[in-house]
Amino acid sequence: MDTHLTDDVVGPLPGDYKSDVKPIWCPGCGDYSVLAGITRAMATMGLERHDTVVVSGIGCSSRIPAYTSVYGYHTVHGRSLAVASGVKLARPELNVLIFGGDGDGFSIGGNHFLHACRRNVDMTYIVMDNQVYGMTKGQASPTTEADWCESKLTPEGPGVNPIQPVALALACGANFVARGFSNNPNEVARLIVEGVRHPGFSVIHILSPCVTFRPEQRNWKSTVHPYGREPTDDPNEAMRAVLEDDGFGLGIFLAGNRRPFQPESAATRSIAQIEEGFAV
Ligand code: SF4
Ligand code: MG
Repeated sequence: MDTHLTDDVVGPLPGDYKSDVKPIWCPGCGDYSVLAGITRAMATMGLERHDTVVVSGIGCSSRIPAYTSVYGYHTVHGRSLAVASGVKLARPELNVLIFGGDGDGFSIGGNHFLHACRRNVDMTYIVMDNQVYGMTKGQASPTTEADWCESKLTPEGPGVNPIQPVALALACGANFVARGFSNNPNEVARLIVEGVRHPGFSVIHILSPCVTFRPEQRNWKSTVHPYGREPTDDPNEAMRAVLEDDGFGLGIFLAGNRRPFQPESAATRSIAQIEEGFAV
C-alpha cells in the first residue's frame, strides 16, 4: 500500500482504497458519498488491503467491490451475508464488510438478514436504503411507503407497510445498530469505524437517495435529524427508542454486549473434521 507523509503522520489515505474503476452511478446518486465515507473509514482504521474483504449482492449499491481496492466478492442477489459469513468463519482474522441495498438485503436476502443478526458473526453490514429497486428501473422495495404510486407495477402504491430495518435488526439480535445519511460522508465514515470496531454483527442503515427514481428523496437533507440520545447497550431500551423515532433519526442506537459467534468452536472444527475425512 502507498503511504503518505502528513507532517509526522504516516498512513494510508482514502484514495488508496479506491480502485481504478470509475463509478457508473447516476449523477447525484447518494451512493457516491457513501463510497467516500467507506474509503475514509478504511483509511481511518488503516486497514490492510490484503486483510480486508468487501462482499455485496446485486443492485446499484452492490457495485462497491468494483470501486474499492481491497479484496471484493460480488455475489448473487440477496446472498451477500451468507457468503460473508463463510469468509469470516473460514478466515476470522480478516476484516469483512458487506454492502448492498434495501431490495437485495431485505427482500431477496431477507431471510439471511434475520439469521445474520441472530448469529452475530463479527462483521459489518452497510445497507444503502433508497426505498426502491434502482438498478431494475424503479419498482417498490420492502422499505417503500405503502402509498408510493410512481411505479407502473404498483400504480396505486404497493399497499403494504414498509419494514423498519433498524427495528428489525434490533429484534433479531444485531449487536451494533446505527443509522446514517449519505450527505454526510464523515459521519458515515465514523459509523462504519464504530461498527467495524464493535464486536459481533453490526448493521449500519444508510439513507442514500435514488435521485433518478425517487427524486423527492433529495429533500431528505431537511428531513433527517440527530437521533439525540447516547447509544445504549440495552436492546430493549434501544427498541423502545427506535419505535418512537420517525425513521430519519441518525446516530448509534445500540452498542450491545452479545458475545460474537465463535468460529473456532464451529467452523474451524468442522473444517478439520472434513480434512480428516479426506485423509482417510
Ligand atoms: Fe443511484 Fe438510483 Fe441511479 Fe441506481 S438508479 S445509480 S440508486 S440514482
Ligand atoms: Mg434500493
